[in-house]
Amino acid sequence: MTEQRLAQDPRRRIPRTDDLLALPEVAAARSRLSEAVLRETVRRAQDRARSGQIAPDDVAPALVADLAARSATSLRPVLNATGVVVHTNLGRAPLSEAAVQALVTAGGYVDVELDLASGVRSRRGAGTREALLAALPEAEDALVVNNGAAALVLATTALGAGREVIVSRGEFVEIGAGFRLSDLIASTGARLREVGTTNRTHLADYADAVGPDTGCLLKVHPSNFRVSGFTAAVPVAGLRDLALERGVPLVVDVGSGLLRHDPALPQEPDLASALADGADVVIASGDKLLGGPQAGLLLGRAEVIQRLARHPLARAVRADKLSLAALEATLVGGPAPVARSLHADPGRLLERTETLARDLARGGAATVVPHDGRVGGGGAPGVPLPGWAVRLPEAVAPLLRAGDPAVLPRVHDGACLVDLRCVPESRDEALTAAVRSALDALGGDS
Ligand SMILES: *Cc1c(COP(=O)(O)O)cnc(C)c1O
Repeated sequence: MTEQRLAQDPRRRIPRTDDLLALPEVAAARSRLSEAVLRETVRRAQDRARSGQIAPDDVAPALVADLAARSATSLRPVLNATGVVVHTNLGRAPLSEAAVQALVTAGGYVDVELDLASGVRSRRGAGTREALLAALPEAEDALVVNNGAAALVLATTALGAGREVIVSRGEFVEIGAGFRLSDLIASTGARLREVGTTNRTHLADYADAVGPDTGCLLKVHPSNFRVSGFTAAVPVAGLRDLALERGVPLVVDVGSGLLRHDPALPQEPDLASALADGADVVIASGDKLLGGPQAGLLLGRAEVIQRLARHPLARAVRADKLSLAALEATLVGGPAPVARSLHADPGRLLERTETLARDLARGGAATVVPHDGRVGGGGAPGVPLPGWAVRLPEAVAPLLRAGDPAVLPRVHDGACLVDLRCVPESRDEALTAAVRSALDALGGDS
């Protein structure tokens, strides 16, 4: 009797693990997913049948669907519809096609530190260094490290440890969560010597502070806020003579990594100008306005850059082959998405936005409104990038974020704003479909 009931139990018809692992779809997924992940996915499909969520016959199709949806990375691609070009929470700069290709190449064995002609070890990332120097002939030498913070730590450690680093009080910045300039420099063993006041610092303030204990003069771009009103700061060119006269290096952290002056961002400092104005070392991030991978760039006088490169800390903050490859390709290859978004043609942006609103055809629920984009990510604070957005009910936003593809809109003033500035034009249709299904899920014209 018991045996008969067991034979009828549908759970006995659940496919066996070995049979499921032998499915051609599972075999095909072996190149993407580990054996442990495959087995775990199989077990979960079987468990769903055991608990009665699906029928035994549906285990194989459910497994195939699970595998198709399973990627080796948990990171999900996001359409950035916020209008914020360098979005910290979305990984800052999306890479150019050339940089993505370079990542694929660099994923294998590559001659990152080898001279193939002679077979001996070579300078690491020589091609990247050459590309940087070609882009910025104002610099004599270049060094790439892990990120901008690491570049700053390396420079202040190598030039200022046990000595004083002179900084204007108005440039005492907190860059982002957990990164305060003062803490960072204190951690290097350098003593921070503040000069001036929050709103005004003069050349004489620097001159009074320079002495036998001075390791370097440091100028930091306050990249995420702006002081206005009764203010004064000494520009790089103003500090050059003092630095030369007293024989102390002048280090300038420009932050965003703009190579040259951009009329679209009139206040944003750039690497070329800082070098031309007399900085011994300039520091910048690779993944802000340069539009490349995470990296810290150090460029300037050969003697100083080589001193930094020889410091033991340089080894601890060195850039990996993937970043070196992507950075070189960002400089040498076609335009980076950051530059495209920053200089998006306003007429074309309006056309695309109107098309999106029309395709949604929601009788008033989707309207085109003026909307300013932003540079974001510690660059050009307060500088608007005039454009447009499709305005939707606020309740659409969480549905868009949870959708496929995931879309991150801007939620502001009780509305969900979809700004196309940072959405590649080739993705407009996918975006339209995502918004439409979010609106459908919300229940029509609400
Ligand atoms: C962003 C920024 C940094 C830090 O660079 P990361 O690449 O984020 O480490 C340092 N200084 C300034 C002025 C910045 O804007």
